[in-house]
Amino acid sequence: MRPYNFAAGPAALPLPVLERAQSELIEHGSDGMSVMEMSHRSPMYQRIIDRAEATLRELMEIPDDYAVLFMQGGATLQFSGVPLNLMHGGKANYVVSGNFAKKAAQEAARYGTVLVVGDSSDRNYTYIPRPKREEFDPSADYVHITANNTIYGTSWRTNLPDVGELPLVADMTSCILSEVYDIRKFGLVYAGAQKNAGIAGMTIVVGRRDLMEQGLITKAAPSVLEYKNQIKNGSMMNTPPTYAIYIAGLVFDWVKEQGGVAALQKVNEQKAALLYDVLDHSSFYKAVADKADRSIMNVTFVTPSEDLNAAFVAGAKEAGLVNLKGHRATGGIRASIYNAMPLSGVEALAQFMKEFERKNG
Ligand SMILES: *Cc1c(COP(=O)(O)O)cnc(C)c1O
Repeated sequence: MRPYNFAAGPAALPLPVLERAQSELIEHGSDGMSVMEMSHRSPMYQRIIDRAEATLRELMEIPDDYAVLFMQGGATLQFSGVPLNLMHGGKANYVVSGNFAKKAAQEAARYGTVLVVGDSSDRNYTYIPRPKREEFDPSADYVHITANNTIYGTSWRTNLPDVGELPLVADMTSCILSEVYDIRKFGLVYAGAQKNAGIAGMTIVVGRRDLMEQGLITKAAPSVLEYKNQIKNGSMMNTPPTYAIYIAGLVFDWVKEQGGVAALQKVNEQKAALLYDVLDHSSFYKAVADKADRSIMNVTFVTPSEDLNAAFVAGAKEAGLVNLKGHRATGGIRASIYNAMPLSGVEALAQFMKEFERKNG
């Protein structure tokens, strides 16, 4: 039997998605070949990418004045893609709420002036800094946030900063499709697919066309990174990550079958509440993130000692609950409970937590 996989990413996929991919591995429909063997310029592949985009648009209610791209290079390449396309005035506000947020700010600083507005490194990123509107420089090009901090288990949720007229840019790698966001509140969002939307190798970029079609701020940057160019070419300026886009399309279909994002949000909140409830009723475990800023995707906690943390992770593995070791930046334990993690997996973890406390508390 497959264990419950709590990995932070690449992460568990919905089993029906894997089964569908398996059934279509050798021949996709009646196309006569695997998706992996198709030309990206063929009508049969065009149907796959068009369908993936249409389903994503439906799930996230993306209006026509927003473009959707499927790009390569992970979220990390978008740390450059965002400033190279949007930093035309040479300045941007960054809220540093974690390791990836910091990396995004550092990457942007290669191309312009980064104003760090809010930084929670003083308490190892266990909370979300919440700058007031007047703290953001209104003459900057945008405000960048990391919507969900995968490593620390903190999240803005939908309590977004008031940025006035500035475009809000968000790294949504570990929370896209996990709860209902109003895309109109954002200038641009991006997400590596391998956490909540598929497999490694593909990054979703959704943004306002007027922002995305400005072109690059410099000619000394790769043209594949130019949103304007990629929009014109339907994400196919060169070979796109064809199989990863296909898998994401299957994940989007699955999300739709579950009742859409709002339905999954309910389950996700229920899942997270099960674990936080154990943590809040325990004097043995300690939750890492501040209560007000808790993520519903990554739940981080510690036991009273390093040895017990290690024993917890090893014991959980024995019980069929794998990949619970926290990130090296935080230590402790992290349960990543993305859309694909069923309620039964979280129930099993909550049960294991209670038993472990009873035996070791
Ligand atoms: C995992 C992660 C990244 C890095 O993604 P890559 O695809 O490996 O570049 C960036 N931001 C967040 C929020 C993440 O969770």
